[in-house]
Amino acid sequence: CHTLRLVLGDQLNPGHSWFAQADPQVVYVLMEVRQETDYVLHHAQKILAIFAAMRDFARQLRDAGHRVRYVALDDANNRQSIPDNLAALAAHYRAEAVQWQQPDEWRLDAQLRDWAATQPLTCETVNSEHFLTARGDLAALMQGRRQWLMEHFYRHMRRRHQVLLDAHGQPEGGQWNFDHDNRKPWPGTPPEPADWRPQHDHSALWAMIERAGVASFGAPQAAALRWPLNRAEALACLDAFITTALPHFGDYEDALAAQAPRLFHSLLSFVLNVKMLHPLEVLQRAEGAWRSGQAPLAAVEGFVRQILGWREYVRGIYWAHMPGYDAHNALGHHQPLPHWFWSGDTRMRCLHVAITQSLQTAHAHHIQRLMVIGNFALLAGLAPQALHRWYLGIYIDAFEWVELPNTLGMSQRADGGVIATKPYVSSAAYLQRMGDYCRGCGYDPKQKTGARACPFNALYWDFFARHAPALQANPRLALVYRQRQKMAEPQQTALRAQATQLRQRLETL
Ligand code: FAD
Ligand code: SF4
Repeated sequence: CHTLRLVLGDQLNPGHSWFAQADPQVVYVLMEVRQETDYVLHHAQKILAIFAAMRDFARQLRDAGHRVRYVALDDANNRQSIPDNLAALAAHYRAEAVQWQQPDEWRLDAQLRDWAATQPLTCETVNSEHFLTARGDLAALMQGRRQWLMEHFYRHMRRRHQVLLDAHGQPEGGQWNFDHDNRKPWPGTPPEPADWRPQHDHSALWAMIERAGVASFGAPQAAALRWPLNRAEALACLDAFITTALPHFGDYEDALAAQAPRLFHSLLSFVLNVKMLHPLEVLQRAEGAWRSGQAPLAAVEGFVRQILGWREYVRGIYWAHMPGYDAHNALGHHQPLPHWFWSGDTRMRCLHVAITQSLQTAHAHHIQRLMVIGNFALLAGLAPQALHRWYLGIYIDAFEWVELPNTLGMSQRADGGVIATKPYVSSAAYLQRMGDYCRGCGYDPKQKTGARACPFNALYWDFFARHAPALQANPRLALVYRQRQKMAEPQQTALRAQATQLRQRLETL
């Protein structure tokens, strides 16, 4: 009798205890299925990189002596659904038990649970051994608190995992948070490090995906795919990041630069989210760089906060609020996404750069996602569910547990303020201050009204006007509303007219 163990495409962790010993009674199952390529329209590189990494992982398992059944997308017997394939394979191997690691997405978790309930087989779920918190930990920690502040959770995690603490359990450097030091525009030096990621030719795999009729968008870059596809490559990327980019990560974390798409970011989200790297090993490497004098504390703390804080925090939000979190639309926004979200074809240079880069590389850094694309979407009143599907599709690292709270919650405030204590919006002044996008733009960041006025300006003031009933009592927005009150009535009227007109012609901006 056999046991089948399902390995999902984002569970490529060779260090999982499942793989400690080869057992001839255990068959590991990996499958490429239309269910997973089609639940949203994906970027071509996302489909390609995940399938290529799964194939690599299966090869490594076989080399280590494990039995593996790999169901390729074009296998004649592939039923293209995870439960249907599992049922067929269970019958084929006369399996008595099927096991899987806890899925991170509600969609898959519910599907497998529902399937298990109908099975005579023994179905078991095991821990994925990846995260630093269990699904319900955040909710338990925050019980009774009105606002689930990330900062509170983050300090708890620093203490619990002994990260960047001194001998007395106090934060190194005497403060928990160096955000204040981490908000500089980038002057062009130090230079952006060369792209340290490997390159792969996966043209044959891509041809098979296309032959199968899988729909996608964005540039496949199949002959020069730049994503690490196994743990050894991921570790080499981690090394390169720590030595070349981490020292400047903090300073330029929020910067925007048209000619430097990666700046000093790690590009590790993909390998973390498919579990090739464990968050703790990444944190320990970063902390080690500070302790050995290779990187300043502010940079290391800023980086640690993203992984030990934000990453685990948004996951806790996801599990505390699913199912149903994806349906929220607290600000009642319903505009469809303009066509240029799929082409980059807009005169607004900031959006042109960020979206074109996303289509080319399947990646954009945090400030591009939050303060360029997300900012515009919120100001323009785009439908949060449509935007959620776009983010879920386009980014190489997009899995719903992390993408949804970031898009719907942090960026669009569609959850009514569960995550964001105030909306992440800005006028052109912020974008102009943080980078060079405005130089060479057809719009003028200084003008608020008129044909050449930057659309962000009128939309910004109109956003606060439209949503005054929901937002003006928020103490963090008192300054904005005071500024608005000081504006003369004719200017307020002109801004509103300009914004209304802009919202009517989003396609042509
Ligand atoms: P770095 O800037 O080098 O940061 C280091 C690591 O910290 C990242 O690899 C990531 O694991 C973690 N991290 C940083 N910020 C966040 C955050 N807000 N939430 C969770 N983890 C974080 N991240 C995803 O992994 N998947 C997504 O689908 C995703 N969607 C996003 C959507 C929106 C609207 C926004 C505003 C942010 C989103 N993020 C998402 C968070 C963040 O933008 C990316 O993790 C980051 O840009 C990935 O690039 P990097 O690895 O170079 O990150
Ligand atoms: Fe973007 Fe406005 Fe600057 Fe143009 S002027 S790049 S639209 S912020």
